[in-house]
Amino acid sequence: MYTALRLQRRLKRELGRGEAEITVVTPDPYMTYQPFLPEAAAGAISPRHVVVPLRRVLDRCRVVIGEATAVDHAARTATVRTPATEEEGTDGSRIEYDELVLAPGSVARTLPIPGLADHAIGFKTVEEAIGLRNHVLEQMDIASSTRDPAVRDAALTFVFVGGGYAGVEALGELEDMARYATRYYHNVRPGDMKWILVEASDRILPEVGEEMGRYTVTELRRRNIDVRLETRLDSCADRVAVLSDGSRFPTRTVVWTAGVKPHPVLAATDLPLNERGRLRCTAELAVAGAPHAWAAGDAAAVPDVTAGEEGRECAPNAQHALRQARVLGDNVVHSLRGEPLETYAHKYAGSVASLGLHKGVAQVYGRKLKGYPAWLMHRTYHLSRVPTFNRKARVAAEWTLAGLFKREIVSLGSLEHPRAEFELAAGGKPSHDPPHNPKGSS
Ligand SMILES: Cc1cc2nc3c(=O)[nH]c(=O)nc-3n(C[C@H](O)[C@H](O)[C@H](O)COP(=O)(O)OP(=O)(O)OC[C@H]3O[C@@H](n4cnc5c(N)ncnc54)[C@H](O)[C@@H]3O)c2cc1C
Repeated sequence: MYTALRLQRRLKRELGRGEAEITVVTPDPYMTYQPFLPEAAAGAISPRHVVVPLRRVLDRCRVVIGEATAVDHAARTATVRTPATEEEGTDGSRIEYDELVLAPGSVARTLPIPGLADHAIGFKTVEEAIGLRNHVLEQMDIASSTRDPAVRDAALTFVFVGGGYAGVEALGELEDMARYATRYYHNVRPGDMKWILVEASDRILPEVGEEMGRYTVTELRRRNIDVRLETRLDSCADRVAVLSDGSRFPTRTVVWTAGVKPHPVLAATDLPLNERGRLRCTAELAVAGAPHAWAAGDAAAVPDVTAGEEGRECAPNAQHALRQARVLGDNVVHSLRGEPLETYAHKYAGSVASLGLHKGVAQVYGRKLKGYPAWLMHRTYHLSRVPTFNRKARVAAEWTLAGLFKREIVSLGSLEHPRAEFELAAGGKPSHDPPHNPKGSS
């Protein structure tokens, strides 16, 4: 989205004269600002405000809702599967291009752990964030209404695997929201819930540095969150999370945020990949040895020119992705006009993370912040970064309103099954498990 925005601005004249055309292929008609997903899960931002409608902001581009399934760069052709091609029963339509920008991001890096594919959920999309919020509140409802202690215990046990941004922020925000929600339950207390963070290495949140990572562990443990370092999830079959330290937790909630890998579509191209499957790129954001192909973000292995002799790649994070996208847009225009290309250089500025309402941790340009100041910095920084003035205004308004009223604690899990009520009324059998069936998959 950022590259297309840049291109539509810089090629305004050419677009107006019909000399250029920008096509954006995207599975969803919106861009997700992922750093806001934990706050969306906590109910602090409504889901619609975490996303940016592409048709509105990219008004001079052709937006194609679909998924690129293959790219033949030698033939300058991409194969795209759209809802229409699926209905027509074809294997996709072909789009010809002159310049290719490939930025499909990353997907969850999973392992062949028993039960993982069947029971776990990721935390990368707005659907997952909202689904998880509804699920946590629904588990509290189950715990509140059951007489079976085993069902209650499993419902109130929440296991998060992976101590990076996504895992720590999602757990921090959801635990905070659930702790608040207990005040409206007559028989669920904060101490009845088990929140567990499982991390294979000896630290969490490497993005905020070692000292702040240690602080985060202490802070989470102070909140009674069970942080287990140097521990792995071995199995979650039969709805029991088995950890490498031998502990077993019956649970209905396993959130998998243990790292990412480049999007699999990259392997369906004739472009060069590095040993980790990212597109081999130059510091000008061109794909190495493939003229007219460009890449940025999590999918691109871009040399970090600020690292000196170390020869590092830019880490997969939003900080690099947003800045790379702008330089990439400029370089495509430079290349079309025969001008010299710009080099992408950005020294990692540090990171901010929220751990719940009024709680956070940050390390920015060497300055370390904890608690309320870090949380405030997290909000200020991301408000300045979320795209479009429209979104900034809506998010700011929501935060202001939330400061004046009590938090939202309602679960709208039935939104995921909008036909259930009607199916029942029409005498049919609901095509899914009732949301409150404690033995079913909720
Ligand atoms: C919960 C969470 C919190 C985070 N917090 C932070 C943070 O605080 N700070 C930070 O720096 N980073 C953070 N990150 C990481 C950051 O969001 C990512 O690094 C960044 O979004 C990568 O940008 P991208 O454009 O490469 O990929 P994405 O943002 O993932 O965008 C890729 C797009 O390509 C689309 N796509 C995929 N496949 C295809 C296909 N075949 N055809 C067409 N389109 C396709 C996808 O649908 C998606 O819209 C966070 C991530 C998560 C999940």
